[in-house]
Amino acid sequence: MGEHLEAAQGRMERAAELIGLDDEIVAHLQHPIETLAVSVGLRRDDGSTVPLKAWRCRYNSSLGPTKGGIRFHQSVHLDEVETLAFLMTMKCALMGLPFGGGKGGVEVDAHDLSTMEKERLARGYVRAMAKILGPDRDVPAPDVATGEREMAWMVSEYSEIAGSIQPHAFTGKPVALGGMAGRTPATGRGGHIALEAMRDLAGLDEDGGLTIALQGFGNVGRWFAKAAANAGHSIVAVADSSGTITNADGIDIESLAEVKAQEGKVTAFEDCEASDEPADILGTQCDVLVLAALGGVIADADDARQLNCKAIVEIANRPILPAADKALADAGIEVVPDILANGGGVTVSHAEWVQGRQGIDWDEEDVADYLEDRMGDAADNVREVMQECDTDMRTAAYAVALRRLCAAISAHGTRADFGKS
Ligand code: NAD
Repeated sequence: MGEHLEAAQGRMERAAELIGLDDEIVAHLQHPIETLAVSVGLRRDDGSTVPLKAWRCRYNSSLGPTKGGIRFHQSVHLDEVETLAFLMTMKCALMGLPFGGGKGGVEVDAHDLSTMEKERLARGYVRAMAKILGPDRDVPAPDVATGEREMAWMVSEYSEIAGSIQPHAFTGKPVALGGMAGRTPATGRGGHIALEAMRDLAGLDEDGGLTIALQGFGNVGRWFAKAAANAGHSIVAVADSSGTITNADGIDIESLAEVKAQEGKVTAFEDCEASDEPADILGTQCDVLVLAALGGVIADADDARQLNCKAIVEIANRPILPAADKALADAGIEVVPDILANGGGVTVSHAEWVQGRQGIDWDEEDVADYLEDRMGDAADNVREVMQECDTDMRTAAYAVALRRLCAAISAHGTRADFGKS
């Protein structure tokens, strides 16, 4: 087992022990049911061919078809893909969705690829993985450096291979191909819903605006910021890969979004103090630090000690590594964990999958209501376990997920191969 997966499982084991789950059942969650590792040959525009390492992991399918994004990134590796698929398993269970967890990745720097090369890679990935994909088996979605366009190419390739139109084989597609209006803002908006639902438990005043520092101003961070600013909170600092900007009086998010769209970087925004150091965001004095960029940004106790916030919302996947957990707890910093805070994305992906099966379009208001209800139910369930077991938010979230997973695993009975179907 890889070191990241092993570390991530420590959190699960703590929750399992707390609620007294049967070791034999929990053991089903210690390894993925299948991981396909392939080499995808990419034909470059100059006619040369380069082999790229690629993976797709189906971690556990006891609750339903596996679900999770595909990322194109130069640092992707097998351990990361399996760890993220494990987290998706926990997240789908916590959100009460009929999905297991999956994840995929290609080791490539997407910035180095032309549009045609990206299309050939997206289609090549699907051809290589087709045997484990499918609307009732494994349903991918976008992730880092993949978006609607890549999902459009992938669903088109998959339908070609299947010999029939399969819109529900992928989510995060453009609306023109059966995508869901409201999918792109869903993760950021869901992060804001989670913050509001948990603010009392996170030690924040129940009324009035909060000061927020935000790391990441991409798909997720931008929509979180808009929702939080509309609700009356003050975004006092924002970082992206270009650096950190700060304004104690609050940053105008609509204007910042326009500048970021035009210039590609938040540091081009005027009326703020700017530094070219992205990591400066972490020490910002604020009520809430929102992590919406990368994994592993708070990796250990030393990183945790630099923080100047009362609570953290993890909208990125695994931005806080287990080695930092104790130092954060000692400092009294409560964390709204990733499997709750970013569960809005997969929730609206579920609506998109249902829409594809039904052949009837949902309207944006129904999607927003569905997101609000699912996030609210998940937050209520976490709150109950926190009180029942006198534990922190992350351990409670894992406990809710584990109860659902273990009920399904034991209901499958003695059929040891249930996971592979
Ligand atoms: P994105 O690529 O659109 O945006 C990432 C942002 O992070 C960009 O603004 C980038 O400049 C910034 N960034 C990169 N390096 C940075 C650094 N060192 N310091 C500060 N900022 C930095 O990606 P996204 O879709 O917004 O996803 C962000 C995170 O949320 C990822 O961890 C992703 O796995 C997770 N997530 C996304 C979704 C979704 O629906 N898109 C769902 C669940 C989880």
